[in-house]
Amino acid sequence: MTTASATPALYRPASLDDAIERLATSDLDAVPIAGATWVMRSPARGEPFRGEYVSLARIEELGRIDDDGTNLTIGAAVTHARLAEALAGHPGLDVLRQAAAKSANPSVRRQATVGGNLCTTGFAAADLVPALLSLSVVAIVRGPAGETRMPLSRFLATRGAALPATVLSHVSVPLAPVVSAHARLTMRRAGDYPVVIVSATAAVDDAGVVESATVAVGSVEPVARLWPEMAAALVGRRLDADAAVLAARELAGSFQARESVEVDGWYRSQVLPAVVGRAVRALERSGRAGREDRGEAGRA
Ligand SMILES: Cc1cc2nc3c(=O)[nH]c(=O)nc-3n(C[C@H](O)[C@H](O)[C@H](O)COP(=O)(O)OP(=O)(O)OC[C@H]3O[C@@H](n4cnc5c(N)ncnc54)[C@H](O)[C@@H]3O)c2cc1C
Repeated sequence: MTTASATPALYRPASLDDAIERLATSDLDAVPIAGATWVMRSPARGEPFRGEYVSLARIEELGRIDDDGTNLTIGAAVTHARLAEALAGHPGLDVLRQAAAKSANPSVRRQATVGGNLCTTGFAAADLVPALLSLSVVAIVRGPAGETRMPLSRFLATRGAALPATVLSHVSVPLAPVVSAHARLTMRRAGDYPVVIVSATAAVDDAGVVESATVAVGSVEPVARLWPEMAAALVGRRLDADAAVLAARELAGSFQARESVEVDGWYRSQVLPAVVGRAVRALERSGRAGREDRGEAGRA
């Protein structure tokens, strides 16, 4: 039930257990709040504020980024700005760094969080969602029954029913030796929400041939998703943006593009192949730079 409230209550727990307990027991229809960049605009979307918000901001474990050499575990309360900064030393996660660094504007990036981006069910143009899908991350969720881990695609499919009783606590990102890129097309009149987002990764051998790839598309359908057919079209050959655009034109019919006030669905489908081309061109550049670096290292 959604409760209209002019002055919602704010509960600020210091631990995740306390937050989960409060979400389960509050009689004010409580939901989590993180950076508040989506929640604060509820009235503009015609949605009343909830009776109570449970802030995740003071929970230390949600603000951490831990690197164990195999996985990067990112807390849900990490902001886009902090994430972009922290990923500077991880070339394999360029797709995520670019998504965090290009979304919205600098002041929003200092507030908006990883968890908020992944848990906002009505936000089709969220940048981190396709980026994290392309990296095959695991979502870590905590609720009254304890911790659950699941592929991000499953979290996205089930989050509507699971939230707000559960809290997304972390995402675990594998540190794989891939090149990756995040391409987004914006329109000024659309308030800079991207019309189409393409996030892609590729594992490329020394000859420049793609051994495996992932492609994820955001903002075209209501929820971002992987595009395995497009990824398969990249494998077994050198990265070639022009060939990728042609393949994307052939394959784009599988998308049910969403209509919105700012842009028609047909337009999203029409420009999707060009954005795939941009992403693949960026992968080509990264792959070339990586091979040149390795070549220089070999000669040194
Ligand atoms: C003008 C403007 C433009 C923007 N443009 C972009 C853009 O182009 N791309 C982009 O990616 N972002 C953009 N954003 C930011 C976007 O709002 C956030 O990325 C995200 O959707 C909300 O993050 P938040 O931390 O502010 O979440 P909040 O507003 O605090 O919460 C949003 C929702 O998520 C839930 N929630 C938050 N954290 C959790 C959690 N850990 N577990 C469970 N539920 C949780 C809340 O209950 C709420 O329902 C923009 C924001 C503004 C104001």
